[in-house]
Amino acid sequence: MKALICGGGIAGLALARCLGDHGWEVVVLEKADALRTQGYMIDFFGPGYTAAREMGLLPRLQELGYAVDALRYVDEEGRTRAGLSYERFGRAAGGHLISIMRPDLERALYESLPGKVDVRFGTGLTAVTHHPDGAAATLTDGTEVAADVVVGADGVHSAVRGLAFGADERYVRRLGFHTAAFVFEDPEIHAVGRRNFVLTDTTDRQMGFYSLRDGRVAAFAVHRSADPALPDDPRETLRREYGGLGWVVPRALRACPPGDEVYYDLVAQVEVPCWSQGHVTLVGDACYAVSLLAGQGASLGMAGAYLLAEQLAGAPSVGTALRRYEERWRPVVEEKQRAARRGVRWFLPGSQTELQARRLALRAARLPGVDRYVATALAGRTRGVLGRALR
Ligand SMILES: Cc1cc2nc3c(=O)[nH]c(=O)nc-3n(C[C@H](O)[C@H](O)[C@H](O)COP(=O)(O)OP(=O)(O)OC[C@H]3O[C@@H](n4cnc5c(N)ncnc54)[C@H](O)[C@@H]3O)c2cc1C
Repeated sequence: MKALICGGGIAGLALARCLGDHGWEVVVLEKADALRTQGYMIDFFGPGYTAAREMGLLPRLQELGYAVDALRYVDEEGRTRAGLSYERFGRAAGGHLISIMRPDLERALYESLPGKVDVRFGTGLTAVTHHPDGAAATLTDGTEVAADVVVGADGVHSAVRGLAFGADERYVRRLGFHTAAFVFEDPEIHAVGRRNFVLTDTTDRQMGFYSLRDGRVAAFAVHRSADPALPDDPRETLRREYGGLGWVVPRALRACPPGDEVYYDLVAQVEVPCWSQGHVTLVGDACYAVSLLAGQGASLGMAGAYLLAEQLAGAPSVGTALRRYEERWRPVVEEKQRAARRGVRWFLPGSQTELQARRLALRAARLPGVDRYVATALAGRTRGVLGRALR
């Protein structure tokens, strides 16, 4: 059996790894020229953690991961106004939590690929066609690849979805925020973010930092914006939007690299009424992005890929496998999407009243009992999710 996977991110590489383990011939197309190096810190827990354990990846992820003591919200002077202990957060996730940079997670998956998986960097596709017993794609190098199944694991703006299912506007639900991430060098800010994820305690826009072991700092930013267009120059937009935040933010903005080294996108969810058309299917952000507000997209991408591979390897036909995959996984991701939309005000308060409410909730979270409630509200139901879907 053969799979053509478009997208060498977390979902695509996880699927390639699992199908390769099941003896499938796998071709992965990745439009970037090499593994992506830009990225942000991910809290990795829940069903993706379970999938990683099943794939034998946990030791490598733990090696690449970071120890985080706390999430701290600070004022203009850098004084802590509110916070959350990661130990509590981790306990709510059953102790199964790894903080890891997205590129490191992708690297671990890539390193684990069986030798027969053919990853073609710098390659995308221009057409997808349905065949009676499979599907085929025309690649950007002009060649055609036929397979038993073609999978779009190519993120929120999926090309496979665009070619086989229709334009973005039908499926992408914008949540009214823009987000950015970049990595830079500044020893002073590095000292601030060591073992702590430190964020500005602000309304409508916030910027946060985490110190990396190589001496650099990973910055993350999110601000409210209804603009559906992405800026031509992300660095310029960041300077305009965040320049007034105070504390170390102006220093970080001065150190921000040029636009093509900045990750910048709209915050959005993806809702596709039916994930498969014939032998063409979707996985990860391409069909069920939950958005960064849910803090679980990578986890759900990895677990969805694992589940899809198990169905493809075990079902009597590709059609049955694709049906079972969607039946079992759709309820899980829809619940996370709803939870993310409910949590918007918690994630980025829109007024001083909402900001104060978040501070009070985090203060209350230090009390025994309440701490578990708040941490569980953030992590969601994490235990047994993948196991139930596999049964
Ligand atoms: C700031 C931020 C913080 C986040 N924090 C967390 C967190 O704490 N925990 C968590 O679990 N999740 C988090 N997420 C979400 C998580 O990063 C995504 O859900 C996850 O990366 C989705 O993986 P994916 O493989 O489905 O898609 P993507 O990561 O988007 O990967 C898609 C891949 O396809 C490639 N591609 C795209 N188009 C084409 C094409 N036409 N041809 C070939 N290749 C193509 C891309 O280059 C990319 O490599 C966060 C997201 C953001 C933005």
